[in-house]
Amino acid sequence: MINKKKIVEELIRFLDERYSDAKCSLDYVNPFQLLIATILSAQCTDERVNKVTCTLFKKYRSFEDFARADIEEFMEDIKPTGFYRNKAKNIKKLSEIVVEKYDGKMPEDIDELVKLPGIGRKTANVVLGNCFGKPGIVVDTHVKRISQRLGLTDNDNPDKIERDLMELIPEEKWTKWSHQMIEFGRDICSARKPKCESCPLSKYCGFYLDKKG
Ligand code: SF4
Repeated sequence: MINKKKIVEELIRFLDERYSDAKCSLDYVNPFQLLIATILSAQCTDERVNKVTCTLFKKYRSFEDFARADIEEFMEDIKPTGFYRNKAKNIKKLSEIVVEKYDGKMPEDIDELVKLPGIGRKTANVVLGNCFGKPGIVVDTHVKRISQRLGLTDNDNPDKIERDLMELIPEEKWTKWSHQMIEFGRDICSARKPKCESCPLSKYCGFYLDKKG
């Protein structure tokens, strides 16, 4: 029987020591920009998104601008981020809704945010946690993988994983902890070649112990 509480204590201690400065690596200056950048970051690296948004946010400065955008031109603007057709359609549609229903201001409530096209709990939690001080667990690919490897969740569905982690991680840490886990995933616990020999969590890690035999 694994002791999740003990694993979480050690994990938090390690993350606080090693990734004390972890934060969102997307470039933004306001919630509007972070929302758009987070949508663009699906299946794309933050570095590539930052290259695109560097010029994109000079051209489109508000939800009104995206709502009025020529869709073909907008698709070209964001093409390097991949899946650009769907991303462009979702951003244009959600911008139209924000303009019509919310007077051009982004809703700050997660239940309202996730009703917008292309916005799931992950994106909503990134924006609410980083811009509005409303903590949320961001279940991205790194958070999911590491949590499963360490046995903190048996689930595969991101919403269920989020609920499992909300039980284990103190609420005030949710946003920062998520960014620390993303750094941990990029740095040590990668998908293909995790550096288990130098990982301080290896003695708790089912994935590693199974692999070792
Ligand atoms: Fe990841 Fe390996 Fe550490 Fe397990 S032991 S958490 S797989 S790096």
